[in-house]
Amino acid sequence: MNIKTKLLLGVGLLAGMIILLVIFSVVNLELLTATEPNSPEALPALQRALLWISIIGGVCIVISLFLFAWLPRSIDKPIKMLTRGILEIANHNYDKRLELNNNEEFSEVVDGFNRMAEHLTEYRLSTLSDILSAKKFLEAIVNSINDPIIGLNREREVLFINNEALNVLNLKREHVIRHSAEELSLKNDLLRRLIRELVTPGQKKEPLKIYADNKESYFKAFYIPIVSGSTEGVPAQSANLGDVILLKNITEFTELDSAKTTFISTISHELKTPISAILMSLQLLEDKRVGELNEEQVQLSKSIRESSERLLNITGELLNLTQVEAGKLQLMPKITKPIELIDYAIKANRVQADKFNIQLEVAYPEGKVSKLFVDSEKIAWVLTNLLSNAIRYSKENSRVIIGARQDGEYIELFVKDFGKGIDPRYHQSIFDRYFRVPGTKVQGSGLGLSISKDFVEAHGGTLTVESELGKGSRFVIRLKT
Ligand code: ADP
Repeated sequence: MNIKTKLLLGVGLLAGMIILLVIFSVVNLELLTATEPNSPEALPALQRALLWISIIGGVCIVISLFLFAWLPRSIDKPIKMLTRGILEIANHNYDKRLELNNNEEFSEVVDGFNRMAEHLTEYRLSTLSDILSAKKFLEAIVNSINDPIIGLNREREVLFINNEALNVLNLKREHVIRHSAEELSLKNDLLRRLIRELVTPGQKKEPLKIYADNKESYFKAFYIPIVSGSTEGVPAQSANLGDVILLKNITEFTELDSAKTTFISTISHELKTPISAILMSLQLLEDKRVGELNEEQVQLSKSIRESSERLLNITGELLNLTQVEAGKLQLMPKITKPIELIDYAIKANRVQADKFNIQLEVAYPEGKVSKLFVDSEKIAWVLTNLLSNAIRYSKENSRVIIGARQDGEYIELFVKDFGKGIDPRYHQSIFDRYFRVPGTKVQGSGLGLSISKDFVEAHGGTLTVESELGKGSRFVIRLKT
């Protein structure tokens, strides 16, 4: 029964009773007025009329009281039930259903509410299972990556880790997931090294030597910050969500690199003996006691000497390089006067400087200059190389200054030329192995500066360049006394 019917029925019943009461009263009044007041029937008729009026009036009052209590309740109850249901849904209790019997008016609302709750339940189950399957899919991808990979959140707790990483770190998944990487690293050396780089970035990144699966492997660590990107309609925020540590297995490259170093070292070593023999034979050939050479033969022997010396230089550079690369650089330091190093470099380059008519100037302080405690052979080699470059990259008839300068507890050895200069774009790369400034015509290997830098750095010093295109360059070796 709907509210309208209830209202109509209630009010109709009440109105009917009142009409009945009025009709009855009127009929009784008429009967009473028609009766003689003093007649014996008057009193019982009056009493009968009063009784009926009271009964009908009483029924009217009961009906109206019932309507008064029942009608608001029948409207209020479903509204309260609906409000409670909506609150439950708002609190994510999507299992809530409403039940309302014999209430036509609200049955549609209740049906609608129950349908909505059902859809929400289905939606929640499907999104949950979607999220779960997406998570499983991502875990499968991470696990299928052959390189160890570790995902950390902002608080540096381990969010995910693949089997390879568990293997190299010698950890168990259940002891790692959702645990602080910093705490775990207290008991794990390798993890400590990885986390240290994350906490204090910018350290020199040596390959990590890891013993796993009964063999030694080399890994290079990559740190990838996870930054929240923009999603559709949401502006990009650059909040850091955590980091991913990826260990790239470089064992194969390291083995190939070391094979290459050994190969270069063996070849250079083997080449040195025949080149020295060529130079020796040349010396004999040029000896006038053996026989006079004609002009053409002199030119030929000069050219053979130049090429042999260049070859010897290159093999020397390659040998130095292999020493550095194999980590076999052994320094034999001794107390050395800076001027001795300068003299050595000048002597070694004198012939070349004279050939191009380049004037070598020495800029040495008048007063006392501190001595250096260095492997003089190595530093002399570096200075010789810098001076050779200065001569080779200068025009004929120009000048080159080689000198030293005391700067507190440091000594600076420098070579300054007025040659073609170096584009600022290449000031870093000229110290890389085999790098040559594009368009360089002078012959060379691109190794001299990189070996020089390694030699100087092995002494705890620095090798830097100041240079301007067209004006010349100044290379500075800075060493602590
Ligand atoms: P190489 O001289 O054998 O090519 P280096 O390592 O000594 O190798 O030098 C690397 C490059 O740096 C050279 O190829 C040259 O382009 C540039 N360079 C080095 N010294 C100078 C200099 N004094 N003036 C101009 N360019 C230079």
